[in-house]
Amino acid sequence: MTTTTEFEALPALEGAEPRLGTLVMKFGGTSVGDPDKIKDVARRIVAARAAGNRVVAVLSAMGDSTDSLVRLAYDVSPRPKPRELDMLISVGERISCALAAMAIHDLGAEAISLTGSQAGIVTDTVHGRAKIVDVRARRIHEALDQDRIVLVAGFQGVSTDFDITTLGRGGSDTTAVALAAALGAEACEIYTDVEGVYTADPRLVPEARKLHAVSYEEMLEMAASGARVLQVRSVEVARNHHVKLHVRSTFSAEDGTWIREEDERMLEKALISGVTHTREEMLYRVEGTDPARLFAILAEAGVNVDTIVRTGSEILFSAPAEDHESARDALDGLDVDWTARDDLGKVSVVGAGMKSHPGVAARAFETLAAAGIELEVVITSPIKIACHVRGEDVERAVLELHRAFQLDAPEAERQHA
Ligand code: ADP
Ligand code: ASP
Ligand code: MG
Repeated sequence: MTTTTEFEALPALEGAEPRLGTLVMKFGGTSVGDPDKIKDVARRIVAARAAGNRVVAVLSAMGDSTDSLVRLAYDVSPRPKPRELDMLISVGERISCALAAMAIHDLGAEAISLTGSQAGIVTDTVHGRAKIVDVRARRIHEALDQDRIVLVAGFQGVSTDFDITTLGRGGSDTTAVALAAALGAEACEIYTDVEGVYTADPRLVPEARKLHAVSYEEMLEMAASGARVLQVRSVEVARNHHVKLHVRSTFSAEDGTWIREEDERMLEKALISGVTHTREEMLYRVEGTDPARLFAILAEAGVNVDTIVRTGSEILFSAPAEDHESARDALDGLDVDWTARDDLGKVSVVGAGMKSHPGVAARAFETLAAAGIELEVVITSPIKIACHVRGEDVERAVLELHRAFQLDAPEAERQHA
């Protein structure tokens, strides 16, 4: 059985000489969900400026307005053109930034809002999930030098063909990290609606613990396997450019979770950093083609392949449910026998300590077996064990594994000074 977890290459970033005191603060959709929340965020940004930082704030669209824009597109057209969809869904973040700039002015500070394009975020030409290839931060530097707070619309850029692109759902995280790297910021603060990264989704597991520190590798695996608190790509850029991330709450002053290089103490304190899950994942079984041809065609169709297992002449792979249409079209275009299952989800146990401690897989399988949960496909990386289980078993599997690895205990937090 072979498995792969592929992460993308890093973007080239221009002019990353460190500037003391630059802080990038990113606020997610819930954090800017209504006018009062935007005013609260403005106060927080102004306070960071008053403390002596050069502040760049990256904002998401208000609440779930990106979802509404996507729905609107599909109300008008069954297959909206990707270029026009990007023109439409990129406006949400612009609205947040313009409103926040107004609120900041009312607090007596200077601010300027910029679209991704104005901020110099240059991407490739792939609509809907573009990758940042360059950050031309001249305009941001100028505004900071004029003592202004800079607000940048997240989730978007301008392509090398001069079209507006978006970076994939959750993409404002990546805007923030790429800017932090390009500006040589000391840290990138990700403000969200939970207090940090937890040992499991706190909305599903009430006894989940907030992690004090997580390594880039662990966070990559957690994000790739369903902890949607950070977009995978943002963690990748942070790791490649050594940007320290601090995930914390918009609604409190508490310290959150630091994401940074692996450190001995992370391993001493707890083997496992968390249990993650996805509720829906399509599992495809393909017969009659070679992997090189199959995955080239899927990549071209933009299907985000996760697990790959090859046994004999059969190839199994999984991909997110939202990529199903593209996968179906690509597979139909090949002359192959294929089937897909849509009744599965995935639960994963992630932790850097697994590398040096055998027995984690055994404990995970025993736990699921004792709970009567059947495993469909299992894949591992050096720091992850991922199991496809029936969709209706996902929640129970997360709760059982969380308990089995004692992630509700204080040691799971990896608290250290
Ligand atoms: P934002 O709008 O701020 O970008 P997101 O909704 O993208 O916020 O991400 C935050 C959400 O991620 C939380 O509300 C939480 O339900 C979910 N989440 C899933 N797994 C985890 C985890 N392990 N730790 C923290 N949050 C998690
Ligand atoms: N507004 C975009 C989304 O909902 C980007 C983001 O919030 O990061 O996916
Ligand atoms: Mg998000």
